Amino acid sequence: MSAVPALPLPSTPLPESRLRLLTELTQGLDAGALLYVSGYAAGLAAAQRNGHTAVQSSSHAAERERATVLYASHTGNGRRIAEKLAASLESRGLAARAVAAGEYATRDLAQERLLYLVASTHGDGDPPEDARAFFDFLLGRKAPRLASLRYAVLALGDSSYPKFCEAARIADERLAALGATAITARVDCDIDFEGAAATWSETALQHALETLKPGGDAPRLSIVPPLRASAPVVVAATRDTPFTAEVLARQRITGRASDHPVMHLEIAAPADQLAYEPGDAVGVWHHNPSFLVARIAEVQQLDLAIPVSHAGEERSLGDWLTQHREVTRLSRPVLEAHAARSTAPALRTLIQGDAQARAAVIRDWQILDLLETYPAQWSAEELVGALRPLAPRLYSIASSRLEVGDELHLTVATVDYEREGVRRVGAASHFLTSEAPELRVYIEPNTRFRLPADGDRDLVMIGAGTGVAPYRAFLQQRSADGARGRHWLLFGARRFSSDFLYQAEWLAARKRGLLQRLDLAASRDQAEKIYVQHRLREQGAELWRWIAGGASLYVCGDATRMAPDVHAALVDVVQTHGGHSDESAQAFLNDLVAERRYLRDVY
Ligand code: NAP
Repeated sequence: MSAVPALPLPSTPLPESRLRLLTELTQGLDAGALLYVSGYAAGLAAAQRNGHTAVQSSSHAAERERATVLYASHTGNGRRIAEKLAASLESRGLAARAVAAGEYATRDLAQERLLYLVASTHGDGDPPEDARAFFDFLLGRKAPRLASLRYAVLALGDSSYPKFCEAARIADERLAALGATAITARVDCDIDFEGAAATWSETALQHALETLKPGGDAPRLSIVPPLRASAPVVVAATRDTPFTAEVLARQRITGRASDHPVMHLEIAAPADQLAYEPGDAVGVWHHNPSFLVARIAEVQQLDLAIPVSHAGEERSLGDWLTQHREVTRLSRPVLEAHAARSTAPALRTLIQGDAQARAAVIRDWQILDLLETYPAQWSAEELVGALRPLAPRLYSIASSRLEVGDELHLTVATVDYEREGVRRVGAASHFLTSEAPELRVYIEPNTRFRLPADGDRDLVMIGAGTGVAPYRAFLQQRSADGARGRHWLLFGARRFSSDFLYQAEWLAARKRGLLQRLDLAASRDQAEKIYVQHRLREQGAELWRWIAGGASLYVCGDATRMAPDVHAALVDVVQTHGGHSDESAQAFLNDLVAERRYLRDVY
């Protein structure tokens, strides 16, 4: 592994920070939008040559009525929808901007005239982590009256969860309560959001076209020929156009005795296709395990070779189920559609009864569990139509380019267990850890989980299980940067001897003086559970000294149990050692969030 600095476009005159912005801007754009960006830049260049400055043209744009497309996005789907809508608006000569809710200046809200909100919901009905401050403002007492605002809300969620699309629903109701006028009813999207999101975006676009005036001197779409006709234009991989990466290494990093094997993967990652920074995630498209697909066909007495037409495409049933449909994750619509075909009274009770019991089934069962437990007949077309489209899985990147060059490392926990004597696997982890020589991947930028710009700042990195992956990237980067800040890792794993992921690397970093403190919480090495939050409390006095000295806090891993427990422990530490009351400790941590000194990447 050589230390090669990352330069996504080697011959570019742009500094790296601008290149990153360019990559983020263009990622996921369709050909029309990319041509627009190209034409926009050409227009600015021509204006500069003619003595007009870019400032002049943008100030005219600012005078025009502008649409704001605000996104509260966790996995990047919301960001992509928002950026695409803003690009479509701009390509029609309308003034528009896409802004992350975490970056949005809330004082602008009172001035908005046309607002599109794309918001996803997580955990217990919560907005994404970095959108919390915006939601707090919107729902709080300081929110302005919005009688002049027209708005539309697109909700992204997962119907497996009881509080489906809750965050967007609350925002929608609040906007209406503040006097704003909805231009169209909120659309709630399940995991297969593409169709509904496209229809909503089209409605949003049409409304803007009818109500906003195109700017007279707005940059127009002009198509400029490439400078060198022979030079291939490299477009970074996106979710829809992933890069096929060679797998360079696959290594189990848990001991033989571990009941939860974890693999370390290294893949080839050319910088022009897969530009990434520590904190980012990699999206991976997988295939479903053939034995699960074969079993589904067997249970339903369907032939995998038969052709099935759906949404204008024809493939064999086997192809649909292997590469294009979710066959492990159950969803509410699939459960309900199956119940409508089944005569089993227990299934009817489940559908009509307790929401928590239903949510537990959706969370813990796979499609096969449903088909085997409550038999019902599906035709091949019906089954393909009912199952959700396959979605890529996101993994935190465990490497820094400054350390590994044109490679990307990831850490994958395998899901492989028996349910009532039958083997069940996690589709993506099974695929990733099998022998597939190549993976289809793309980078999902994660700007809410970044290293501080200041290399002198201390870092406290708290994580459990595979949640330790980004800290490997952080430490590699800080080492390559020659950062002088101190590092403290608090890591939770099942057992010290078998599950201490990257143990040799942490110990080597400790020896080199790169990692000043290392605390492991091995939960299953003793009768009572010991978790990272116990270590936080035990080390509270020292932790407070780090925090008071300006350290940044990072938390990565499980969102539903670990993150709230770690937060509670941090509140305790701030109270006990910082002399705060419960309320002011909460406020203190909220301030750290606002200063981007308390960052969480949890799901
Ligand atoms: P795991 O091995 O199942 O668990 C890691 C450790 O966390 C175990 O020692 C476990 O203890 C402990 N734990 C359980 N409940 C806890 C709690 N309330 N507070 C603190 N620790 C607790 O973990 P994994 O399979 O590698 O995955 C960890 C989680 O992180 C998954 O939910 C995964 O989706 C998530 N993850 C998130 C990111 C990200 O946000 N970027 C990246 C990677 C992984 P016991 O099991 O013994 O109780």
